[in-house]
Amino acid sequence: MASVELHNIHKAYGALTVIHDISLAIDDGEFIALVGPSGCGKSTLLRMIAGLEEITDGHVSIGGQVVNAMTPRERNIAMVFQSYALYPHMTVAENMGFNLKLSGETRQTIEQRVSEAARMLDLTKLLDRKPAQLSGGQRQRVAMGRAIVRNPAVFLFDEPLSNLDAKLRVQMRSEIKALHQKVQTTSIYVTHDQIEAMTLADRIVVLNQGRIEQQGTPIELYRKPANLFVAGFIGSPA
Ligand code: ADP
Ligand code: MG
Repeated sequence: MASVELHNIHKAYGALTVIHDISLAIDDGEFIALVGPSGCGKSTLLRMIAGLEEITDGHVSIGGQVVNAMTPRERNIAMVFQSYALYPHMTVAENMGFNLKLSGETRQTIEQRVSEAARMLDLTKLLDRKPAQLSGGQRQRVAMGRAIVRNPAVFLFDEPLSNLDAKLRVQMRSEIKALHQKVQTTSIYVTHDQIEAMTLADRIVVLNQGRIEQQGTPIELYRKPANLFVAGFIGSPA
């Protein structure tokens, strides 16, 4: 677990600046939802935290340490995307253990962590299956399992449920909530879904065109949206 701090982050693609001076402090164990319209910079921000995208200006700290120069692996962050990107030729267990294998963990450690994660995510009976033999929700659980076996300091979620149907989304939402209550890993969760943000997050950060419009607890944003833009996103009755 670790705190995450963004200090005056800027991102430009050539002449186009897509993130403007974002600063944000996320506590150890906190669950943050990052919301905002398509193209406002949510994925870019996550990718910079993960080390998958160069930071134009500013710095990112994890656990109090500046990580700008670190590789994604050194940052000890796990990212869950909407496309599960499981390896089709590997079993569930192999998919979940693959990153540990790359890090040189022993077979025994891998088996132990995989079976722990499988218990947590109700995947124990599916460990020998291939991804093609799983439902969408099960695949997404495997993707989460692959992330938690690494015991990451931080979880980054990029619209992980947006490919699932409405009923499954509701179910997975409670599973993610239960998982966070168990492991308490600092989480940054990008979503389009206002209900998802309201039910999962300790704090919601609303982005618009690469800037933070407002941040606060779900109740604060719901009761006192700073402007019409935020109200439109959070759905205040006013
Ligand atoms: P979101 O995830 O909120 O939908 P993104 O972070 O994907 O938004 O994109 C933010 C902005 O950056 C968009 O205007 C997008 O077109 C632009 N962008 C993202 N990636 C690149 C890239 N590799 N090159 C140029 N522009 C990009
Ligand atoms: Mg995105």
